[in-house]
Amino acid sequence: MPTLEEYTAEIAPLWDTHWLTNRGAKHREFEGMLRELLGVEHLVLYTNGHSALEGAFDVFDMHGKVITTPYTFTSTTNAIVRKGFEPVFADIDPRTYTIDPQQVEKLIDDDVCAIVPVHVYGNLCDIDALQQIADEHGLKLIYDAAHAFGVSRNGVSAASFGDASMFSFHATKVFNTIEGGALCVRSAELEEKLYQYENFGLTAPEEISYAGGNTKMNEFCAAMGICNLRHLDDEIAKRKIAAERYWSNLGGVENLDICPPAEDVEPNYAYMPVLFNDGFGATREDVFEALNAEGIGARRYFVPLTSQAAYFNGAHDPADTPVAKYVSDHILTLPLYADLSVEDVDRICDIVVSCGAKG
Ligand SMILES: *Cc1c(COP(=O)(O)O)cnc(C)c1O
Repeated sequence: MPTLEEYTAEIAPLWDTHWLTNRGAKHREFEGMLRELLGVEHLVLYTNGHSALEGAFDVFDMHGKVITTPYTFTSTTNAIVRKGFEPVFADIDPRTYTIDPQQVEKLIDDDVCAIVPVHVYGNLCDIDALQQIADEHGLKLIYDAAHAFGVSRNGVSAASFGDASMFSFHATKVFNTIEGGALCVRSAELEEKLYQYENFGLTAPEEISYAGGNTKMNEFCAAMGICNLRHLDDEIAKRKIAAERYWSNLGGVENLDICPPAEDVEPNYAYMPVLFNDGFGATREDVFEALNAEGIGARRYFVPLTSQAAYFNGAHDPADTPVAKYVSDHILTLPLYADLSVEDVDRICDIVVSCGAKG
């Protein structure tokens, strides 16, 4: 959070204008800051990232099946289902935990209209391979970039890949607007249509064109975004110190996989995934409980695979995505935030390593 003083100064003008939502001054200012930071021309702000992802399904002229990953937060799959599309689950790459382009290609048929990959933990997907597949088969490419705010590859931000990229500004993410999100698209027409969709489908004050909903960002959230953007570099720089300490402590431990960023990527240090392979000497559950006993909140993230949601009634066999199943069964994300001290990182790593040594 920004300081209370910084935030109150930011929202004070709202008491003069009484303009609280519907593309007010803060909304427009925040949009402009994001365009510049992300290096994209066209984006729309939302009440949350989930709504931003659903927005993509409103404006692209498509229907049928959507190839996606089961190794994600349930929002990705729910958006596909809620918008009336049928998800088809492709397995993931064992190094980046992102969707495997070769598996995507195997699942393409005439009914497939889009690919929805996820930059899991801020690891960028195999963007070039996915774009090539999408181009070859005429598929839309819609990225769930909820984890990848502030991530770029060779200086090009994650916002600019595919037909659309969704960011989440939820309170738990690297950058937040309390709740919030954005969808980055490639044309002014799409941008306008997305805004109309999130404002009841109104195309003029007395003209109802689409069955839109209401998912606009309000001025208070935009003001929070303006404040927090000022501190983004500092947030990421502090996370980097903690993340590098984890990697240096855990990098040499046998049968334990850490997941450092690819060399051409400028990361955001959003999460600290650690995978406990079978030879480690302790199971993921053992480590989870040992950390919990010390009051350290690691997460089994992502468990379960989204293909195992109860609403599918067992329609998707986890054995069809064996890598995703293995990772979901063996991974923990360890605490990582800007104010985490290296002493605390060392303490967490000591517990993790001693779990393995006991085995
Ligand atoms: C957080 C998250 C979402 C949803 O974003 P909200 O802003 O919470 O609606 C979607 N996908 C992934 C991968 C996420 O981590």
